[in-house]
Amino acid sequence: MLTDYHVHLRRDEPGTEASRYLTAANAARYRETAAERGIAELGVAEHVHRFRQALDVWRHPFWRLNAVDDLDDYCAFVREETDLRLGIEADFVPGREDRMANLLDAREWDYVVGSVHFLAEWAVDDADYDVYRSLDAETVWRRYFESLGEAARSGMFDILAHPDLVKVWGSGRPLPDGDLRRYYELAMDGIAESGIAVEVSTAGLRKPVGEIYPAPAFLAMLLDAGCPVALSSDAHVAEDLGHGYDQAVAYLAELGVRELCVFERRARRLEPIG
Ligand SMILES: [Zn+2]
Ligand SMILES: [Zn+2]
Repeated sequence: MLTDYHVHLRRDEPGTEASRYLTAANAARYRETAAERGIAELGVAEHVHRFRQALDVWRHPFWRLNAVDDLDDYCAFVREETDLRLGIEADFVPGREDRMANLLDAREWDYVVGSVHFLAEWAVDDADYDVYRSLDAETVWRRYFESLGEAARSGMFDILAHPDLVKVWGSGRPLPDGDLRRYYELAMDGIAESGIAVEVSTAGLRKPVGEIYPAPAFLAMLLDAGCPVALSSDAHVAEDLGHGYDQAVAYLAELGVRELCVFERRARRLEPIG
């Protein structure tokens, strides 16, 4: 059994309106592509910042630019016009946990993917809001992993997305020296105590870093702590579904992972990778 849960029906660029991409035909195309690639469990998790309701949580300029769709229309579309699992990719916004929990708890997801993209007003993965403009690598990495642990500990999320996203630029941004486990360690207590599933994401293979998230040393720590794994591609087009899964499955086998998380109405079970 293979899964792809952290999936977007449209790209992040302007001109990718809901009316063009949140359609039964597009969803069917995703289902077909997934089936061809042996992915039986398929769900979508659009970015929370695409929805007007997200502005009740946070009013970051990037969110104000993007928050045009209706969240309940999205949920109704996925439930009524597709056979996909219903998820959402929600940011961890420190200090706004209650507001985000209100938004999430009011709807019936199969799973909620939790992400750290921002450190305060600055993004680790968006050049327009580049956190490296004002902070050095050591500070960015430390704050990122502290925030990741808090995100897990918040209890709002079922899956912790792209756990070492901070490496996304590879050598395109300053990197800390030496053994990176001192940063991973900062997130471990929160993650271990939360029982959250950790995402193994092939998205990093399509980014400058050219690596799966999370890095082997981090994944080994997560597995030691007993974290179950959720496998996703973070595809934004059907062609990217299951991208790099041969590599991901070999990676998981090497680390002794034989089961993947499957989600339904926020209940989790494990299925053999097979
Ligand atoms: Zn993300
Ligand atoms: Zn995503």
